[in-house]
Amino acid sequence: MRAVLVTGGSRGIGRAVALEFARGGDRVGVQYAANRADAEETLRQLPGEGHVLLQAELGEPDAAERLVSRAVAELGAVDVLVNNAAVAPTEANRHLVADTPLAEWQRVWRRMVDVNLLAPADLCWAVAHHLIGRAAGGAIVNVGSRGAFRGEPDFPAYGTTKAALHALGQSLAVALAPHGIAVTSVAPGFVATERQAAKLTGAEGERLRAQSPFGRVGTPEEIAAAVHFLASPAAIWASGTVVDLNGASHLRI
Ligand code: NAP
Repeated sequence: MRAVLVTGGSRGIGRAVALEFARGGDRVGVQYAANRADAEETLRQLPGEGHVLLQAELGEPDAAERLVSRAVAELGAVDVLVNNAAVAPTEANRHLVADTPLAEWQRVWRRMVDVNLLAPADLCWAVAHHLIGRAAGGAIVNVGSRGAFRGEPDFPAYGTTKAALHALGQSLAVALAPHGIAVTSVAPGFVATERQAAKLTGAEGERLRAQSPFGRVGTPEEIAAAVHFLASPAAIWASGTVVDLNGASHLRI
């Protein structure tokens, strides 16, 4: 039974990931920032024993190291890290370059870089040091985005942090392989999470579903299944990969 730290587990993809690991018999540390009631609902849904809730505002400079210390204390160890939490695109943080004043542009960029890139980097550092200290193998899976490859014109900071997260995973895959630690990323296209529900109605919903030749958007469970596999010992040879999970809506060469 592994101990798994899942960031952003209060809802959406993070909740599905937490459920997938718990169904596989693992113990899960469910991190959330502000939505404690939602995180408690995730915890309530997890089968098995020994799961814990961990609050952390990952925009704070020392939050990642503190979070890993608490996860180790409460779970006994961390064998798998899933970097899923992010400041995702919303109407409130749209920052199309031509329409956005500099002060707002800088505010959104700094917030997204702090939460979406620097916090995962620090979490990778802390979990890597923990695993190396135990002389234990393990796995890190980063939740990136198709937007890293396709561009995010309305949310360039978001697309940039996701591209950087993929690149971070590739560098760490090489650096941590001698320690038996696999590092991978997934790059989902549009996923029908609670946050995205309103976009799936009307004409915008039709447009989003038409992005994929399957004629639909992805589900949180499809992302969770891939994350679970990538964190398994069977997937160690996939270390360094960035897996497209977008229903053939964007093909890379
Ligand atoms: P979501 O519903 O917006 O959930 C975000 C999660 O991250 C929540 O648990 C939230 O905690 C946590 N979080 C946000 N800001 C935080 C902060 N400053 N510190 C700590 N935790 C914070 O996200 P989602 O749609 O499930 O997406 C999950 C991941 O998949 C993200 O990395 C996203 O970029 C990526 N992704 C999503 C899609 C999609 O279409 N849904 C597509 C591609 C990639 P609280 O609830 O407590 O605030």
